[in-house]
Amino acid sequence: MKKSIHLLYLLLLLGALQIETVPEAKAAQKPNFVVIFADDLGYGDLGSFGHPSIRTPNLDRMAVEGQRWTSFYVGASVCTPSRAALMTGRLPIRNGMMSAQSRVLFPNSEGGLPASEITIAELLKEQGYATAVIGKWHLGHLPQYLPTAHGFDTYWGVPYSNDMDALAGFPGYGKESARDAHYAATIQQYNVPILRDTEVVERPADQNTLTSRYADKAIEFIGAHRDQPFFVYLAHNLPHIPLFAGKDFRGGSRRGLFGDVVEEIDAGVGRIVATLKELGLDRNTLVVFTSDNGPWLPFKTHGGSAGLLRQGKGTTYEGGMREPTIFWWPGKIVPKVQMEMGTTMDLLPTFCALAGAATPQDRTLDGYDLSPLLLGSAEKGPRDTVFYWREEKLFAVREGPWKAHFITEGCYGVGDKREVHAIPELYQLEQDPSEKYNVASLHPDVVARLKGVAERHKATLTPVTNQLEKRSSAALR
Ligand code: MG
Repeated sequence: MKKSIHLLYLLLLLGALQIETVPEAKAAQKPNFVVIFADDLGYGDLGSFGHPSIRTPNLDRMAVEGQRWTSFYVGASVCTPSRAALMTGRLPIRNGMMSAQSRVLFPNSEGGLPASEITIAELLKEQGYATAVIGKWHLGHLPQYLPTAHGFDTYWGVPYSNDMDALAGFPGYGKESARDAHYAATIQQYNVPILRDTEVVERPADQNTLTSRYADKAIEFIGAHRDQPFFVYLAHNLPHIPLFAGKDFRGGSRRGLFGDVVEEIDAGVGRIVATLKELGLDRNTLVVFTSDNGPWLPFKTHGGSAGLLRQGKGTTYEGGMREPTIFWWPGKIVPKVQMEMGTTMDLLPTFCALAGAATPQDRTLDGYDLSPLLLGSAEKGPRDTVFYWREEKLFAVREGPWKAHFITEGCYGVGDKREVHAIPELYQLEQDPSEKYNVASLHPDVVARLKGVAERHKATLTPVTNQLEKRSSAALR
């Protein structure tokens, strides 16, 4: 009798061990990373960030289950430099991906992200990750600059903005009357290509189905690489102008076409999360959602909303560079509203820490490891400053709650003309997130301190070749 009880205990113990060892083996695997990057989505454009008439139930659920970041920034307020910052963990002023003459790359640009830069994908590849870019790259469309030259196994998407390659004679954005043409444009008027790796496979891209096809491609890649760690960078072309939505979403939102597009992006996020759950990968996958820059305000209802933040895309006000950001990793991330500061440049060191990779030591990184904040082992974040560069000039700096503007300027014909301030404007962003009340005269000591922070930061820069000013007469053909 005693013997059989012992045997029973032994069997139970073995059973328990087996149950324990299966998830432990999975947990020991390096975590997967999925970054979903919207284009020109504003701080106020998700339900969980306060939008009253756009429904984003999937992202809202992730915001509750994970962390909703309220002070998360990008490295620049327009596409190309913002993406360079995310991919390298460095301010674009350090790698030539920022210019006063040409704020982004165009189809006739000959530059791109230099081979000497180290991307997140290159670091993760060394750790055995499968890597893919799906969507908008905008870090150079020539073969030597495409994702496949920067550590990614595969690429599928439009290599730059969805409004580029406009047909001859189609109006630009200079005047409001010209901008109106973009509200009712056809796909043919924007002759943008879709590339698979380095080859054009579709032109003009069928932009009506682009958002859902990007989600499909991400799901396909995740399924194909379920047995090894993976990094998927899914960079939507939308809701950048011109807006296109799939037939199941067009006309479906109360917010008009812009809302239709955001709701379609949200549905794709929901499908990706469902796939991770179905494959049993959700507890080993960190999903990050954010946007490359703020809303393109001159486009009226076709542009987004920065919510309570001032201004939008192209500017160094909060509305240009603070983005609605969600980190989701069930069972790992401590759910909360996270008010510590973070930036897209922090993703590289954070992913390295979680994947057990070393960060590059031979260059200045502008990112910090956010994993202690995400996993709950720290309350206070590692980042105390944000630098707001525009057109190769340091326009503003944030330290703690304080932000000093040395130069201010609206953008795209909206807002103020450029002004260089003899006495910087000063805002206390936690008490005044809308940057309404300049308190410089009340806090000259803070102004002086932030000037010092800016000068010390500028002293860390070295001259580099500007990549955005290299142009040829030939576009991608
Ligand atoms: Mg953008």
